Amino acid sequence: MGGKFNPWHMTLEQLDEVAREINLDESIHQILRYPKRCLTVSIPIQMDNGKIKVFTGFRVQHNVTRGPAKGGIRYHPSVTLDEIKALAMLMTWKCAVVNIPYGGAKGGIVCEPGKLSLKEVERLTRRYISEIISFIGPEKDILAPDVNTNPQVMAWIMDTYSMDIGYSVPGVVTGKPISIGGSLGRNTATARGVMFALMNTAKRIKLDLFEKTIAIQGYGNVGGNLAHLLSDEGCKIIAISDVEGGIYNPKGLDPKKVSLAVKESGSVISFKDADKITNQELLTVNCYVLIPAALENQINQGNAGKIRAKIIAEAANGPTTPRADKILEEKDVFIIPDILANAGGVTVSYFEWVQGLQAYFWTEREVNLKLRDIMQKAFDNVYHISTERKVTMRKAAYILAVERVAGATRARGLYP
Ligand code: NAD
Repeated sequence: MGGKFNPWHMTLEQLDEVAREINLDESIHQILRYPKRCLTVSIPIQMDNGKIKVFTGFRVQHNVTRGPAKGGIRYHPSVTLDEIKALAMLMTWKCAVVNIPYGGAKGGIVCEPGKLSLKEVERLTRRYISEIISFIGPEKDILAPDVNTNPQVMAWIMDTYSMDIGYSVPGVVTGKPISIGGSLGRNTATARGVMFALMNTAKRIKLDLFEKTIAIQGYGNVGGNLAHLLSDEGCKIIAISDVEGGIYNPKGLDPKKVSLAVKESGSVISFKDADKITNQELLTVNCYVLIPAALENQINQGNAGKIRAKIIAEAANGPTTPRADKILEEKDVFIIPDILANAGGVTVSYFEWVQGLQAYFWTEREVNLKLRDIMQKAFDNVYHISTERKVTMRKAAYILAVERVAGATRARGLYP
C-alpha cells in the first residue's frame, strides 16, 4: 500500500494487523472491514452573489452494533470519501475503547469555510442535513463538531432536523450551545481528555510532566484548549502552530498571550515573543511531549526518524501513519493513540446526549469528574493489555476496541 497516503487504507491496515494478533474470526473481520453505509450527497446552495454552487458532502456510518452511530462533521477542502470512511471506523474503535454505547460515523463537506460567509455556511449546513436527514437522529446517528465546525453549526443542525420533524430534538447532535441543550464542559472535553491521558501516562511511567517541554501542532478547539489547560496546570509549552505556521520559544509560550494574537490576526504566527518555525520544524523540535492536534498523516515515514519527542499524544485523528509507527516504536517513543487520547470529546458528547434524553443537566464539575473516571479506566485497560501482551499502546487500544465490537457482533448474530 505504498504511493499516495490514503487514510482508509491506513485504518484497514491497522485493523488487519490487530485481527491477526487476536486471531479474529474471519467472518467478523470481513464485516468490520466494511462501512455499514456511505452517503455521498450534492449540496446546491445559493451564494451571496446570487449564483448557485454545488458542494459535495459525505456521511459514513461504519458500525452500529453497540449503539447508534456517532461522529463529527468536518468542513475542509481536502475531505474525501476515503478520509471520512477512515474517520468513521476510528469512531467505532474510539467509542469501544471508552466503552460508551455507540457505533462509529463521520461526515464532511468539501469546502473552504474561510472563503464562505456565515450565511453561506448556514445554508450549506442546513441543505447538507436535509440531504441526509432520513439517516440521522438521536437513535440512529448523532452528529458533532470536528475540523472547522463549531457550536453554531451544531445549532443549525439541531434546528434543521427539529423543523423537519416538527418538534425540538436536541439529541440529534452534540457540541451544541448550552442554551439549546449543550453540556457544560463539552467545548474543552477533547482537550481535557488528552490532558488526562498525558497525566495517566506520566503516572505510569513515573515522569514529572511539569519538568518536560511540550509542542502542539494545531491551535483550534483541541490544540488551543489543550495549550490553556496544560499551561494552567503548570506545564511548559515551547512550540505551537496552526495552518499558517508555527512559533517557538524554549523559555515557554503563554497561551493567554498567544490567543490574544490569534484573536487580532487570525493566526499564532503574529505572536511576537517567539521565533517563527514551519509545521515540519514543529514536529521535529526538541521537546519531550509532541501533541499533533491538526490533521491526519502529519507524522509519516518522511519525518518520523527525525522526531525527538519521547511521548506523542495523538489529539488529532490519524496523525501517525503505520510506517511512522514502526519507526517510532524502534525509537521507543511512547504513543498515546488517537482512539484513546482524544476520546474525551465523544465521551462528553455521550454525556450531552444522556442529559438531553433525560432533560436533566449536570454541573461542569460532575461532567469533568465523570470524564476523568472514564479516561482513567480506558487508559488503565489499554495499558494493562499493552504490558500483558508486550504490544504498543495503539495495538493494545485496537485489541480492546475490536474485541468489544466483535463480542457485540457475535452476541447479536447475523440478520436475517
Ligand atoms: P479546528 O478546526 O478547531 O482546529 C484545527 C487546527 O489545525 C487549526 O488551528 C488549524 O489552523 C490547524 N491546521 C489545519 N491544517 C493544518 C496543517 N496542515 N498544519 C498545521 N495545522 C493545521 O479542529 P479541531 O476540532 O481542533 O480538530 C483537530 C483534530 O482533532 C482533528 O484531527 C479532529 O478530527 C480531532 N478531534 C477533534 C475533536 C473535537 O471535539 N473537536 C474530537 C476528537 C478529535
